[in-house]
Amino acid sequence: MKFLRIWQELNLEDIKQHLLVVGELSAECFNCHELSIDSASRSCPNCGTVFKYIGFRRKLRVQDFKSFNRERTGVKLIDFFDFKKEINKKGARDFLDI
Ligand SMILES: [Zn+2]
Repeated sequence: MKFLRIWQELNLEDIKQHLLVVGELSAECFNCHELSIDSASRSCPNCGTVFKYIGFRRKLRVQDFKSFNRERTGVKLIDFFDFKKEINKKGARDFLDI
């Protein structure tokens, strides 16, 4: 089996509420911005949101996908850079009221 990226239409608001953002040393809940969360956590210890999505702050490598797939089931791996780009666009549209 090989890993290929696919594009899928997703609800930005749902992602915002259920996203775990993994950094180099720890992870952050995107919903309440709690820091220092264990990247293996299924829910936020602060706000209780269940993580349905996970994104990485760094550019992903194939070995990241392999370890992610072993550790997580039922959680969608999203491209955090795509997500940030879309919420920035939405923020600009909301600001301009268009
Ligand atoms: Zn939280």
